[in-house]
Parts: sequence; C-alpha cells; structure tokens
Amino acid sequence: MSIDASLKAFEEAQSLIPGGVNSPVRAFKSVGGTPLFIVEGEGAYLTDVDGNKYIDFVQSWGPLLFGHRDENIEKAVIEAVKHGLSFGAPTLAETELAKLVISFFDSIDKIRFVSSGTEAVMSAIRLARGFTGRDDIVKFTGCYHGHSDSLLVQAGSGAATFGNPSSPGVPADFTKHTLLATYNNIESVRKCFQDSKDIACVIIEPIAGNMGLVPADKEFLHELRKLCDDNGSLLIFDEVMSGFRASINGAESITGVKPDILTLGKVIGGGMPVGAFGARAEIMSMLSPEGPVYQAGTLSGNPVAMAAGYAALTKLKQNARVMAVLEERAKRLVEGMKDAALACGITMQIDVRGSMFGFFFNEKPVKNFADACESDAELFAKFHSGMLKEGYYFACSLYETGFISTAITDEMIENTIKASAKVLKEITNG
Ligand SMILES: *Cc1c(COP(=O)(O)O)cnc(C)c1O
Repeated sequence: MSIDASLKAFEEAQSLIPGGVNSPVRAFKSVGGTPLFIVEGEGAYLTDVDGNKYIDFVQSWGPLLFGHRDENIEKAVIEAVKHGLSFGAPTLAETELAKLVISFFDSIDKIRFVSSGTEAVMSAIRLARGFTGRDDIVKFTGCYHGHSDSLLVQAGSGAATFGNPSSPGVPADFTKHTLLATYNNIESVRKCFQDSKDIACVIIEPIAGNMGLVPADKEFLHELRKLCDDNGSLLIFDEVMSGFRASINGAESITGVKPDILTLGKVIGGGMPVGAFGARAEIMSMLSPEGPVYQAGTLSGNPVAMAAGYAALTKLKQNARVMAVLEERAKRLVEGMKDAALACGITMQIDVRGSMFGFFFNEKPVKNFADACESDAELFAKFHSGMLKEGYYFACSLYETGFISTAITDEMIENTIKASAKVLKEITNG
C-alpha cells in the first residue's frame, strides 16, 4: 500500500496551514504517521489520494449516520442549491427543521440553529448565565464542548491528545468561572456547589464521546439533576455528538433525566455545518431578539445546510428501527475485537451506545478521564496503523469514539473483526 500522494499533499499543506490541517485531531499526531488525504466517500468507504480504499468508522467524526453520499441527503442538497446558497433572511426550511428536531425531544419547546457545535454550546452557556444572572459554570474533566474560551479547560480528545488541556491565549480571568468536576463522581459536583453559590449551570456530555466512549451512570445523572434543582442552576446536556447517535430521542429517553438546555450538532446537519441549542420556552425567550441575551450568525440556518439536516432526520424518523440494527452491529464489532484481543492476552474495555462504540486497551473499567488516561496509548497507535494498512479507518486517537453508519454491513463487521485479530496477533508476536 502506497501513501506517497498523501505524504506529498501533507507536506505542502503544512507549509500553508498550521500542522497541515484545519482541525488538530486530523493530523494523526497521537498515533504517529501521516494523515490520509481523502478524495471521495461512497457508502461505507473512503478513498484517499493514492487510490486506497478504507471502511470508514469515523464518519466525519459522527455526522454521517447514513454513510457517504446518502442519496436522500445528496438530492435534498442539490435541490436546495438550485434556489440559492444563502439569503440572510428567514426561510421555510428553518421552521421545518426546527419542528422536526423539537419533535424528537421532550425537553425543548424552541430551538436556534447555528453553524457548529462550538457555537451552540458557547451560546447555550451565555443563555444559562443570562437566565440565572449567575457567572460560574461546572464542567467535567474529559468532556469536550467545543473550543470557546471558558470551555477549553481539561477538555478531552483533541486537547488531551496534545497534552495541552487549557490553551495559551485563553486568559485565566475567562476560565476562573469554570469549575471542574470528575465524571461519574457526584461528590465532586457537590463540592463545586459548596465552593460557589454563583453556579449558572452544569454542562455535561451525558454520553461522553470525547474521552473515548464513557457513558454517565443513570444514578449519577439523576443526582446531578437534583443538585441543579436544589441550587437553582440549569443542567445542560451537550449532545452534539450523542444526539441521534446514541438514541433517537436523546439521553433523556435513555436515562429519564431531562436537561434544561440541550445542544446538538453533527448528525443534525447531515454532513453540512449545523449546530443548535434548545430549551423550554421560558428559557429560550431570553434570547435576542425576543430577550436581552445576544446571539447571532450570518450563515445561521443556512438553507442548504437546513435541507441536508432535514433529509437526514426525516430518513431517521421514517426508519427509527435502524438504531437497533446499528447498535447490534456496534456490539458485535467490539465484542469480536475484545475476543480477538483476549486471544492475544490483551484486555480490552468496550462499550456501545446506539451507533457509537468505544474500546480501551485497559485492564480496568473506564468511568472517567483519569481512567481513560491509563489506557495503553502505544498499543492503540500500533493497532490504529495496523488496521489502516488492512483497509480499516478508525479514529486516530484513543480518546475518540467510533461510529457505525447504515452503509456498514454485517459482513464488513465480520471482516473488521478478522482484520483486528490479525493485527493484534502481529503486534503481540512482533
Ligand atoms: C464535536 C463536539 C462539539 C463541538 O462541535 P464543533 O462542530 O466541532 O464545533 C461540542 N460538543 C461535543 C460533545 C462534541 O462532540
């Protein structure tokens, strides 16, 4: 397998774009090696500039629930493009997508669309602060909520990968209102509420996907809800990744815990840049122009992006049982890989939520970021590059989650398991 064209492309990109990429995790830094430059996606497959084909378990980091070039999404986008790319004025497509997204969740009456998950979360935090009149926020170590200043504290994946959890360029004054708690540890949250009487909100990935896949315990989320209620603070579920991935109706449908504000992204754009945040009407009414909390965006609610999201979510709504099928496949995959690892004397921790799957080369169960950090990074790097050579494209960091799309068949899953057995055997023998 040659990757000469990718090597050359990466070299040129590095001379023009910092690190050669427009988002750090793409650079393959934590696994070594060269990022592959992609020319095309089709169904389950990615093709790189050298013409190598891979089965894609990254799916653009989550958005592509139906794989590459889904015919319904593609058609909707082409149809929308014919009417113009952007108007900066309201369109019917925004109302339609709003109605559709809201229909999936009990917790939200109104929604606003933005262009990224980062924007959605940043705006949700401002809204929570505006609504409560308080300044402090609580976040969990290892949860990632985009790269806005006050949230770039101990942020998992991308940030963790680079050992640079809080970034230069973020004034300490901006993050002093961000309190840190430990995932799945309610005592650590209780301590935050003892330390501050000014907590506007607690933000959490209820199914964390940015320290590897680490779901929150149900009991923990219930206690979190209660702590927020007792202290007059809002609870924000950041489901930018898990929304429409872990379940169709959100973490609230799995855990029975309802957030005050919900943030979405990734899948709701069907591959186009869309983020959103929603809440009950009382909270959303605080938002400009209805209320005083300012938030805006030139390309927010872009008609082409709305069309892609609408096509994706309509398809999901009409094929709701697809989630169970994806979950079966995800389970089969990680259980097969776990067995293959065990046969080589390697312990693997695995988990699945809907179409999200996670695995750690770790002796102990992973409940929080510190646990995740004890995983064998060197083994992961070898596994990653071995799988790539076999034609399987996994996320290039052990702190990321894997994704199954509907384009990935049972047969592909079985082949992936076989390849993982081969790769793990080579690693442990060599
Ligand atoms: C991806 C992600 C974000 C940021 O979304 P972008 O579109 O990359 O800005 C925020 N929160 C979570 C949970 C995410 O997974």
